[in-house]
Amino acid sequence: MIHFNNSYARLPEGFFTRTAPTPVRDPKLVALNLPLAERLGLDAEWLQSPEGLQVLAGNAVAEGSEPIAQAYAGHQFGGFSPQLGDGRAVLLGEVIAPDGARFDIQLKGAGPTPFSRRGDGRAWLGPVLREYLVSEFMAAFGVPTTRALAAVTTGEQVIRETLLPGAVLTRIAASHIRVGTFEFYAARGDRERLRLLTEHVIARHYPDASGAADLLQRVVEAQAYTISCWMGLGFIHGVMNTDNMSVSGETIDYGPCAFMDGYQPDKVFSSIDAYGRYAWNEQPNIAVWNLAQLASCLVPLMGDSDEAVAEATRIVHSFPALYQREWLKRFAAKLGISQPRPEDRALIEKLLSLMAQEQVDFTRAFAGLSDGKARDEFIDRDAFDQWAAEWQARIAGLPDAAEFMARANPRRIPRNHRIEQAIALARDEGDYSLFHLLDAALRQPFTDRAQWDALALPPEPDEVVQRTFCG
Ligand code: AMP
Ligand code: MG
Ligand code: MG
Repeated sequence: MIHFNNSYARLPEGFFTRTAPTPVRDPKLVALNLPLAERLGLDAEWLQSPEGLQVLAGNAVAEGSEPIAQAYAGHQFGGFSPQLGDGRAVLLGEVIAPDGARFDIQLKGAGPTPFSRRGDGRAWLGPVLREYLVSEFMAAFGVPTTRALAAVTTGEQVIRETLLPGAVLTRIAASHIRVGTFEFYAARGDRERLRLLTEHVIARHYPDASGAADLLQRVVEAQAYTISCWMGLGFIHGVMNTDNMSVSGETIDYGPCAFMDGYQPDKVFSSIDAYGRYAWNEQPNIAVWNLAQLASCLVPLMGDSDEAVAEATRIVHSFPALYQREWLKRFAAKLGISQPRPEDRALIEKLLSLMAQEQVDFTRAFAGLSDGKARDEFIDRDAFDQWAAEWQARIAGLPDAAEFMARANPRRIPRNHRIEQAIALARDEGDYSLFHLLDAALRQPFTDRAQWDALALPPEPDEVVQRTFCG
């Protein structure tokens, strides 16, 4: 059983609708995340039992669970949608982990809710496996993120362009409260619920924040950190709509996300991002744009005066400096520099511009700094050698450089082509071996093992993934 301790479901009417998951025909457990179950203090044996499977599939409502679909709004590609909400997700409830931290347990793909609009409320296996692998890699690397507790197949098909196997992901999050949750009440002029939501978020995520302005500042800081982590991994979220930005700072809603292979700063994968709004190098700017939306929501609680607007603006404008500081830390660490100086920025940018000229593999170039193989990634070896001489001079005598570098640069990332291969095998042959191999290898991004070597390779020309989809 699960010891639920629900707080969101205690909020008054208007924050959610009570909605049970819709049962599925023939659920089968594909993956259960044992380390995460332990971290949450959940009974792994029970989760793997027939009874546990029924709960993970949405066929049974566990004791203490109060399933709800949360209301939210959001700016999607810059346009405001006043009514989004959990259209294919159901929040089962919250648990308190042994260390006292509170977590949501949510089923994604659990069937229609009052917020489904024209959608079927379901997910197909592909995006479920992708989110499982990518979110767990991010967690292993220390990036703030929602996590994947379990994946089950439903024994039912979902209709996309073709018929595809259905699946449900059990997602764990510090909360599923988004910038768009605030926008939902702000757009309706519902100051009372805005105040209640703000109180809830402060108590839950930023207990020492002194009020709405301070909350805004904390979210700005959390996002500056998270986005800097994305940039350091070549990660592209793909749909940074305000409804996909968590106020806890966790990376949320892995849809058409992808990691770059060759370094190309304006890289876009998502098939729906026609104008590159959410390109890799736009992500910090979009974060500011999204945080400005949150700021607008909070102004009414900050006094609703010119001074409040000025203060909210100042806080949003604190993002660039905070982000630059975090960026410098992440990228300096990748070069083995634990205490960056302002002039290190030029050294980092020089390497990045060499990499961009040749679209050098982002992950391999940085990982190769540790084992001397980075040079092999470049065509213009002279240019690299010149840079490397400067770099060597900078890290000479830094006792922790090698260790620092090794921990900042993963040997492996969830390569798009490998994820696609794992999904195709699971979909077409019911073969989860590549999924499980990836899952194991990505949890240990710094360990080398012969059977994982192939997972570190960039795609062959015919394996390159050009486009990713929402699923
Ligand atoms: P996303 O861009 O995937 O984060 O989703 C944006 C909105 O569409 C959210 O309100 C989702 O709940 C909803 N949505 C996405 N896919 C479906 C689906 N298959 N059925 C119902 N609602 C969906
Ligand atoms: Mg979303
Ligand atoms: Mg989604």
